[in-house]
Amino acid sequence: MSTPENNMPVSPVVPTMYDESKEIQFSCHKGIGCWNACCANIDISLTPYDIIRLKKRLGMTSTQFLRDYTVPYEMEKDGIAGVKFRPVDNGTACRFMQPEGCAVYEDRPTACRYYPVALLSMRKQDEYTDTQSYALVEEEHCKGHQVARRLTIADYRKEQGVIEYDDLARGWRQLVLKKKSSGPTIGSLSLKSRQLFFMACYDIDTFHNFVESEAFGKLFKLGADEKAMLMADDVELMQFSFRFLKQVLFGEQSIALDEQAAQERLTKWQARQAEIEKEAADKRAEYERKMLEEGIDEDASGLGFCDDEAGGCGGKG
Ligand code: SF4
Ligand code: SF4
Repeated sequence: MSTPENNMPVSPVVPTMYDESKEIQFSCHKGIGCWNACCANIDISLTPYDIIRLKKRLGMTSTQFLRDYTVPYEMEKDGIAGVKFRPVDNGTACRFMQPEGCAVYEDRPTACRYYPVALLSMRKQDEYTDTQSYALVEEEHCKGHQVARRLTIADYRKEQGVIEYDDLARGWRQLVLKKKSSGPTIGSLSLKSRQLFFMACYDIDTFHNFVESEAFGKLFKLGADEKAMLMADDVELMQFSFRFLKQVLFGEQSIALDEQAAQERLTKWQARQAEIEKEAADKRAEYERKMLEEGIDEDASGLGFCDDEAGGCGGKG
């Protein structure tokens, strides 16, 4: 959307924050003039629970679902990734849009359930507890706002079944908010940590294999009953994945470690760090040796100094 005067994009989100008691006027139903308009041009982010519901619905693994129906995106520069629906090839419509409506209606994602309400999740720095508020999205094409049906956001959330979805996405939202607001205390995550975040949050079947693996079992002490439950239930496993990430990314211990295995890993890591430092020192020594052999004073060869006799500077002065 843009204003005719300046062509600047105008957000359809009404810039006011509401709580659940806010009354809205809205109804969406088959036969309305704009039927499917909202699904014809999508930008829909998915939560880990959305993915579990959809991959089950489609009878595929999370790995296949991610490959066939989604694209990753950066939630912050060089930070953790999110996942969005991939629209139809060469178009902007949702792959599940049918003339009669949504082909996965009972399992549609959180964002589709909420529309035209937007959920705003916020938290204070270094706190996990988030607060929810809401905004209204008023797009020109959506005629639902003109239908005389009034209800509170609380009732709308109930009607659209988002309460369960929000409860099950809370751990993930807290992780995202914590990462985004942690600043230099957490710093930027390594590529490996970002890959781990992606796998644990979105690719639940690969995470399942990871938790089932011998290497995982050696490091983390899970009781037989707990492990069996996690292996049998994707939603339990998803919630465990949030605990796992809080532990490995933010150091919040909630899963018992095998002391000996943890010590072995630490020793291995320290040995590798020492190797990296030695390699760097060797390279530096080699570089300095070459400089000396070639008779180049390193300071003079660096930026910002040159000798007129050696070829002239140009540029400044
Ligand atoms: S999942 Fe369903 S409701 Fe959501 S954009 Fe696609 S077709 Fe529309
Ligand atoms: S009323 Fe709004 S939400 Fe319903 S089909 Fe039309 S554009 Fe989509």
